[in-house]
Amino acid sequence: FDDIEEEDESKLVPRPPVVVVMGHVDHGKTSLLDAIRSTHVIDSEAGGITQHIGAYMVKAKDRRITFLDTPGHEAFTAMRARGAQVTDIAILVVAADDGVMPQTIEAINHAKAANVSIIVAINKIDKPGANPDRVKQELTEHGIVAEEWGGDAIMVPVSAKKRENIDQLLEMVLLVADMLELKANPDRQAKGTIIEAKLDKERGPVATMLVQRGTLKAGDSIIAGSAFGRIKAMTNDKGTAIKSAGPSMPVEVLGMNEVPDAGEIFYAVTDEKVAKHLVEKRKYKQKEQQYKKSAKVSLEELYNQIKEGKVKDLNLVIKADVQGSLEAVKSSLMKLSNDEVRVNVVHYAVGAITESDVTLAQVSNAIIIGFNVRPGINVTEAAKAAEVDIRLYSIIYKAIEDVQSAMNGLLEPTYKEVVLGHIEIRQVFKVSNVGTIGGAYVTDGKVQRNSEVRVVRDGIVIYEGKLGSLKRFKDDVKEVTQGYECGVSIEKFNDIKEGDVIEAFIMEEVKR
Ligand code: GDP
Repeated sequence: FDDIEEEDESKLVPRPPVVVVMGHVDHGKTSLLDAIRSTHVIDSEAGGITQHIGAYMVKAKDRRITFLDTPGHEAFTAMRARGAQVTDIAILVVAADDGVMPQTIEAINHAKAANVSIIVAINKIDKPGANPDRVKQELTEHGIVAEEWGGDAIMVPVSAKKRENIDQLLEMVLLVADMLELKANPDRQAKGTIIEAKLDKERGPVATMLVQRGTLKAGDSIIAGSAFGRIKAMTNDKGTAIKSAGPSMPVEVLGMNEVPDAGEIFYAVTDEKVAKHLVEKRKYKQKEQQYKKSAKVSLEELYNQIKEGKVKDLNLVIKADVQGSLEAVKSSLMKLSNDEVRVNVVHYAVGAITESDVTLAQVSNAIIIGFNVRPGINVTEAAKAAEVDIRLYSIIYKAIEDVQSAMNGLLEPTYKEVVLGHIEIRQVFKVSNVGTIGGAYVTDGKVQRNSEVRVVRDGIVIYEGKLGSLKRFKDDVKEVTQGYECGVSIEKFNDIKEGDVIEAFIMEEVKR
């Protein structure tokens, strides 16, 4: 029912750009949003206090720009993971005194994966240590080359604090918007995205929606995921009641029967009965799909897609424990590219695998390669829910072998790692002539005397080897299962610390 209706080219009219602000923590995202909001309020409401509704419009050169008030690329990519394609332009904030930092690179990769135009705001130029040229230099290393240096990236030096050059920044946003030729048909039923939603004690479900095409009218019936309802009240970002909202306008809406998820797409439909019916049909479909679950992004699935000619890129997100191994893994995997298949690294960084890596992988049809790193439990769950394959390695050639076999269609490795369980070190004892003994607790699965083990500290694998001893009280035992305490030592490793997690695994031969 959604996009069956063809878009009539002749009815398209220009619409305001939708902008998101991204960058490293403390580089000034919130300050920049504040500066823009306070210097560019829409005239009629000048002096009025903007409500917080997750998105707002400002005016520059008599034109409008919509800002999503969600600093952080995680929120942005999480919305995309739900299918939302809301942003046209990303302003990448980089502090001139700090330069390109890990989250700057993450933001770049998230924006690139979303195919969003990037404008760089080099912030904090009022500071004595500011060095915009260094920022430009560092960005060059990540494929973002300033116009004045022969590239095509627009970079504007600003001070969010002193409110300097904010006008120029917004002018550049409008310039990019013009190049993108953003258009929508206001003359049809509305469609858009839920930006955020919550349950208000008095008013019930409250949703901030961004209209993306058509015009949303007070009284319209809407559906969003499994939520539906009839608009009881609609206000703009200033809290003023409005009767209708056109493309790129954010509004706050009352009247849904439940709280929809952020990133969910909403549709206006002819009446509430239709809305209810459609939602029920959807819920049924969702249930149906739960039963035929197959990994959405796995090496196997990617291989099938390559074989069927559906994709040409084998997309990877690579995380590793240290810079050296990261570079080595990345370059050796990229070298596997051939005429048919390109190994494409969407994002790579040092550190544990995070939820944001999972969402990025999900939206870019990538699998995650972890080298000497481990995902946290919540991350593993997120990956399961998103159906993203996480492949963990501690030997580079094994990673190469797997990816190579995926490309050649010879997928099964001869040996497969089977994780038995995890134990947590709760106390450490130094015993002379014996070494370090960890007082431990089996948190899940089991550990066996003949297990191979890896020691994980803060998500990073710091050692891999064999179990030295496994005891219950004073006795050597063959295995200890979940919920029991035990004493362990690790061969040739005396550095276990309280809080370390020990993963026990065995290598099993795969029968063909
Ligand atoms: P966010 O974490 O990216 O949202 O960063 P914030 O907007 O919270 O800013 C972090 C810190 O940098 C705050 O103490 C701000 O006052 C400061 N800051 C932000 N912009 C500027 C600026 O243009 N100049 C100076 N000197 N400080 C700034």
